[in-house]
Amino acid sequence: MSTANSDIELDDESDDGGYGYYDYYNNSEDTEMEPTDPFKNDPEHFEFKCLYKEDVERLFNECVENLCANLPVKPSLAKLLLHTHNWTTGDLITSYRSDASKLLVDSRIKPSKPPETEFQVVRSSKSLSCSICLLNYSGEFFRALACGHYFCKDCWFTHFEIQITQGITTAMECMGQGCTLLVPEDFVLSILNKSSLREKYQQFSFSDYVKSHPSLRFCPGTNCNVIVFAKDYQSKRVTCKQCKTTFCFKCGSEYHAPTDCETIKKWLTKCADDSETANYISAHTKDCPKCSICIEKNGGCNHMQCYSCKADFCWMCLGDWNAHGSEYYECSRYKENPNIANESAHAQAREALKKYLFYFERWENHARSLRLEEHTLQKIKDRINDKVMANEGTWIDWQYLRNAASLLAKCRYTLQYTYPYAYYMEVGPRKELFEYQQAQLEAEIENLSWKVERAETTDRGDLENQMDVAEKRRTTLLKDFLAV
Ligand SMILES: [Zn+2]
Ligand SMILES: [Zn+2]
Ligand SMILES: [Zn+2]
Ligand SMILES: [Zn+2]
Ligand SMILES: [Zn+2]
Ligand SMILES: [Zn+2]
Repeated sequence: MSTANSDIELDDESDDGGYGYYDYYNNSEDTEMEPTDPFKNDPEHFEFKCLYKEDVERLFNECVENLCANLPVKPSLAKLLLHTHNWTTGDLITSYRSDASKLLVDSRIKPSKPPETEFQVVRSSKSLSCSICLLNYSGEFFRALACGHYFCKDCWFTHFEIQITQGITTAMECMGQGCTLLVPEDFVLSILNKSSLREKYQQFSFSDYVKSHPSLRFCPGTNCNVIVFAKDYQSKRVTCKQCKTTFCFKCGSEYHAPTDCETIKKWLTKCADDSETANYISAHTKDCPKCSICIEKNGGCNHMQCYSCKADFCWMCLGDWNAHGSEYYECSRYKENPNIANESAHAQAREALKKYLFYFERWENHARSLRLEEHTLQKIKDRINDKVMANEGTWIDWQYLRNAASLLAKCRYTLQYTYPYAYYMEVGPRKELFEYQQAQLEAEIENLSWKVERAETTDRGDLENQMDVAEKRRTTLLKDFLAV
């Protein structure tokens, strides 16, 4: 399901909010368009910018300059402080003003007790022995941090080289026994005289700085160098303008609304751990509940029609399709055993597995439907192409079909991510409301899927109406349950 959302997102000219946000946000000429903000009612609306390395370096430099203007620290220490305090300039200034020494000691910049070795003594020595390599050099060949642990430049170089090769840069410490002072950037660069190593150091430390900054997130797209900037550290959807990857800004993994970052992580870990148990469940064939003939599911829609007896049934629960979408719709809801606490441990374990498999089957089935509906989209594109070639209308005339397929993907994606949310929800009125809305969304999505698969025989107005209803159900659910 890794590419499910990004690949079938609507084109730029469409009215979907997908990645139109960026342009909207960036379009400074349009600042007078308030107060009719078209995204005000969109629960997924999120303002962000796609930046490149140079922009981010400029941002870091501005932060460093700003801190240096407020505190008597040199730039390399300011950068170290910012990095270890998640770039919270305001908090740093406050802590520094209340107890500068404590801040510097806690930040591993200043030693807790004054150094034993005097700087002047070391520098003026004609011959000193390095405690690591045991070779003798003149005092000028020795370097130390504020802790006064002096070592020869060659030993520092080797120390840095080993760490950088392991990908460690901003976390490099002094070589003194038991000393945990951090080595600031300017100290490292004064020792590293090999350009390939300097480059590596700068590349890795840049990446550490980005990761420690709450407003920045590397685009997870393959070989993509974009860094997304957003003021709010929220689990909202961002789409990279360069590689079109869609992801959650807060955790950097696949977008997962309405489930929150922690829950989706827990769910995905569980799925990976229990994959053996769950594997048997993803059957691609089932027997018709009426005539028992074997039916293969090769489309995304869960509304099945038996090719033999024409019975309409639901792929998930094998129930009569006509009962779906009504208020008795029970297909997406798991009925917990209210007396489970009094049962044996064995029965409880069996119940827990049953519950998990119920949610997992639906989660997995929607992921599969998304993949199958990608094929539908491709078929639609091919058919439109044929029609345009045969002079039956233009691409613009048929655009609504592509929009319908794209909207279907967007809705089903959200629906898929409602299952981990429901799985971890406590039983109660809020869960009931959630499951009610989930069932409503599910019913409208299957109706839309059915119509998209039969696009040519479906009336355009009918299809567009169905799109509207499905998207409304989706935003209603998100408005009520989307975690920030
Ligand atoms: Zn040495
Ligand atoms: Zn030290
Ligand atoms: Zn990207
Ligand atoms: Zn997240
Ligand atoms: Zn049948
Ligand atoms: Zn069902």
